[in-house]
Amino acid sequence: PLAIWWIRRDLRLSDNPALTAALAGDGAVLPVYILDEQDAGLGAAPKFRLGLGLEHFVRELAKAGSRLILRRGKALDVLQQLAGGTGAGAVHWSRLYDPQAIARDTDIKQQLTAQGIKVHSHGGRLLFEPWTVETKAGGMYKVYTPFWKAVRGRSAGSLLRAPATLTAPEDWPVSEDLSAWNMGAAMRRGADIVARYCRVGEAAALNRLDEFLAGSVDAYKERRDYPGEDATSGLSENLAWGEISPHRMWHLGRAAMERGSQGAEHFLKEIAWREFAYHLMYHSPHILTASWRDEWQAFPWSQRITPQVQAWQRGQTGYGFIDAAMRELYVTGKMHNRARMIAASFLTKHLMTHWKIGMDWFADTLVDWDPASNAMGWQWVAGSGPDASPFFRVFNPSGQLEKFDPSGAYTDRWIAEGQAAPPQSALDFFDAAPLSWDLSPASPRVKPVISLKEGRDRALTAYQGAREDR
Ligand code: FAD
Repeated sequence: PLAIWWIRRDLRLSDNPALTAALAGDGAVLPVYILDEQDAGLGAAPKFRLGLGLEHFVRELAKAGSRLILRRGKALDVLQQLAGGTGAGAVHWSRLYDPQAIARDTDIKQQLTAQGIKVHSHGGRLLFEPWTVETKAGGMYKVYTPFWKAVRGRSAGSLLRAPATLTAPEDWPVSEDLSAWNMGAAMRRGADIVARYCRVGEAAALNRLDEFLAGSVDAYKERRDYPGEDATSGLSENLAWGEISPHRMWHLGRAAMERGSQGAEHFLKEIAWREFAYHLMYHSPHILTASWRDEWQAFPWSQRITPQVQAWQRGQTGYGFIDAAMRELYVTGKMHNRARMIAASFLTKHLMTHWKIGMDWFADTLVDWDPASNAMGWQWVAGSGPDASPFFRVFNPSGQLEKFDPSGAYTDRWIAEGQAAPPQSALDFFDAAPLSWDLSPASPRVKPVISLKEGRDRALTAYQGAREDR
């Protein structure tokens, strides 16, 4: 019997429980991607990166003797049409955990089941399903360290092999043409530049993991905070689109730990932060839309895109760490974790701007955009989230730069102004930025948009005021 494999954020053949189950029926498999109304809400860069991932996956499926059927529309309608037209008796997918996807998938499961089509949802995006990790009292974890203690010894199950071939259906339903989807339409000028910095596809992700675990992982704990170095795995973009499974990272990371790699345990801890983000989003989905702690709802953050906020978005704040970070983001669609923290702190504290404004900008510009990690990261920095950094801890971007970029490698890579012979990466920013921003590498460095003292004092005064109001 024919089974539909409804592909969502799992663009991979290996270690994919949904695919393995679809093949287990010994019949043919129909891989389908549906660009539905939820994808329509994706930001410019994630949508563009999804397009690159799909383009690559079309070729990978062809190599395995199969095809990727592309359709647009309401997912339920498309699945019904495909099942009706091909006689498919089952649909398999791997789960997503944001509230919109859960609502859509629950409805689809009910409707298809009522029509006699078997529906199976599978894990694979996470190491541990969010409902399987709970405190002794039976609730969700709100603090990371006990969460980590609860999961660190767990086995994530064995890895599943990629099938050599996927049995094709007798007749293929028609597919739309990916180029007609115009996935880069919202990217304005920078798409081809961002594409150069992307690592697309399963094979590239697996190679990168091997390379990382054979090298940089050993010094990961000491070096991971230095944004000028190649000290982290860089796999977040592949995890975001499911081009690699967290299981594989966990398994191979553990093997490295058992070999005695000092940094490997720390790497596992970071993978567990991603799990924690999903745990929070699943159990308290309001983390995506509102300050997680109620008492922060009334905090007097500005919700306006002021010229200062624009300067932040455009890497023109006059502070090297922030500007390098925001340019790295614009050019590559990614940003180093320490830089994300410093840039987010500057926006929410020195510029007293709501974390949602920053979260939305990241959601539009990151190729590794992930709803759970993005929301948790912003609320962690802003101080409004669970297990958050306290608001009064205001990062000083200049001090942080001295500490974490002592040689200036990071700022030199991304800021052209003031350099006699700037590297291509720094120049790429001016090609990636829209013309309307009116920027030139020959301009002098901009003056700081706010003095660090003034910004810090204003933030702390607001914080004090908000506490007294309570
Ligand atoms: P590595 O250091 O190699 O870590 C391995 C993996 O662990 C990462 O790929 C990632 O999946 C996970 N991980 C590491 N640090 C974190 C963390 N702090 N939180 C959650 N997971 C983590 N990550 C995203 O994937 N998408 C986002 O949209 C996103 N938005 C963020 C926004 C803010 C304000 C902050 C502070 C952090 C955000 N992060 C986000 C988390 C983190 O910055 C990135 O996951 C990390 O920089 C990716 O680089 P890497 O793959 O080299 O990580």
